[in-house]
Amino acid sequence: MSFEHALPHWINNARDVLHSERQADVFDPAHGRVARRVLLASDSDVSAAVASASAAQPAWGALPPLRRARVLFRMQELVTKYSTDLARLITREHGKTLPDAQGEVQRGLEVIEFACGIPQLLKGQYSDNVGGGIANWSQRMPLGVTAGITPFNFPFMVPMWMAPVAIACGNSFILKPSERDPSPSLLTAELFRDAGLPDGVFNVVQGDREAVDALLVHPDVRAVSFVGSTPIARHIYETAARHGKRAQALGGAKNHMVVMPDADIAQAADALIGAAYGSAGERCMAISVAVVVGDIADALVDAVKVRAQKLTIGDGESPGADMGPVVTAAHRDRIVSLIDSGIAEGATLVLDGRRHTVAGRENGYFLGATLFDHVTPDMRIWREEIFGPVLCVVRAASFGEAVELVNSHEYGNGVSLYTRDGRTAQEFAQRIEAGMVGINVPIPVPMAWHSFGGWKQSLFGDLHAYGEEGVRFYTRYKSVMQRWPDSSSKGPEFGMPVNQ
Ligand code: NAD
Repeated sequence: MSFEHALPHWINNARDVLHSERQADVFDPAHGRVARRVLLASDSDVSAAVASASAAQPAWGALPPLRRARVLFRMQELVTKYSTDLARLITREHGKTLPDAQGEVQRGLEVIEFACGIPQLLKGQYSDNVGGGIANWSQRMPLGVTAGITPFNFPFMVPMWMAPVAIACGNSFILKPSERDPSPSLLTAELFRDAGLPDGVFNVVQGDREAVDALLVHPDVRAVSFVGSTPIARHIYETAARHGKRAQALGGAKNHMVVMPDADIAQAADALIGAAYGSAGERCMAISVAVVVGDIADALVDAVKVRAQKLTIGDGESPGADMGPVVTAAHRDRIVSLIDSGIAEGATLVLDGRRHTVAGRENGYFLGATLFDHVTPDMRIWREEIFGPVLCVVRAASFGEAVELVNSHEYGNGVSLYTRDGRTAQEFAQRIEAGMVGINVPIPVPMAWHSFGGWKQSLFGDLHAYGEEGVRFYTRYKSVMQRWPDSSSKGPEFGMPVNQ
């Protein structure tokens, strides 16, 4: 197989190879082979992207917000029109099923729809006559060049958590997508261009650590948004802050679902199946631990097992597949080694997905659904993020013990509770230490007009992604005081101005 043209960057509204000499393989995970290659940007490539974004930003930032919003309205139409094309690109490089990829496109689209309301969102505050005929108002101003570094697991949705809001606020934006599934970034860029976004406002640099580190130290990049694993999130936050940039870095997760004895077991089992094994567990909001309270554990484990055995695992493009492959062979091997560690540390392996093959796709990076029971907090499979189709069941004697277990974990992204009791639900929502809480909702990803973010090691920074928090992140606050004095000046005043 030859790869004459590696996937390029996108600079000034055109595909561009810049000077990149390094490349990486991009896999087709369902067939288990290299499908194409992608360029990896060097330091000077990043400088070219920043130069393009810097040149474009002042005119874009000076446009009335309503005119910026009109570009986003057109982007909304184009993403809707090309949603299946975007979903296919996602499935081919990520491996998730086509309906799941379509859901991803839809959730990204919703942030574009939110950003269309930017004139209202940027409205400042005004105080008339604060004293001496002075008016005081505040307004939110763009930052300049902003950058987003995104993970493999949502190659359209996560860039859309960032770019539409950044752009609507009047910034230019440089996306550094995951090198594992770079194709959706280029179609996204074409759609922005066709929507009427001026040259240089949205750019893509393909790459790896070298590109990221160049963005983090570049003096003209004012803010960096990151979504990915916790060790890299910490590196991004610390390095960006050290270089005087605003930063928000969303990290890894270990999401628990607490199931109370009064829960409907069939409903809880259905929820667990979708939330644990959907997208082969490669979601930052996937449920990877079920904390089962009281005497329903045997019944719930049986119900999950029966359902998991019926899952259809196959190529994400084949109709009827519930779960596709994981993203790379290296990632599959890491998941297998974590399953091995669970067995060695004494958890009960109820379902073993390590040797799952799919007819006609024998080289694909497939795993079957894996289910562990009697998992305890000292085991690696509880402590570490597995990011694969592995569900761990921990048994707890009481609601209080379940809450303490969840709160003791280093991550605090999403959490869910299944119960029929309102009082328990209320107490759970108050006491649980996580950024996103679901009550009888397994994957509580907030809507576009609320904001997304975890607590503890799941987020470094002060502001969550998208929604009003996103608008705050991508703008800086300015306060203006204005007076139009009459000609009878009182002369200089040396005391602190106060209202008498
Ligand atoms: P990752 O951390 O390996 O990569 C994320 C981005 O960082 C990619 O663009 C990658 O090129 C870049 N990168 C990788 N290594 C780097 C390094 N050493 N220095 C600088 N940049 C580097 O994450 P991933 O494997 O692509 O995605 C999966 C992870 O993302 C999981 O941990 C998952 O929980 C997390 N995630 C979190 C959220 C959230 O909202 N909290 C959402 C999606 C994914």
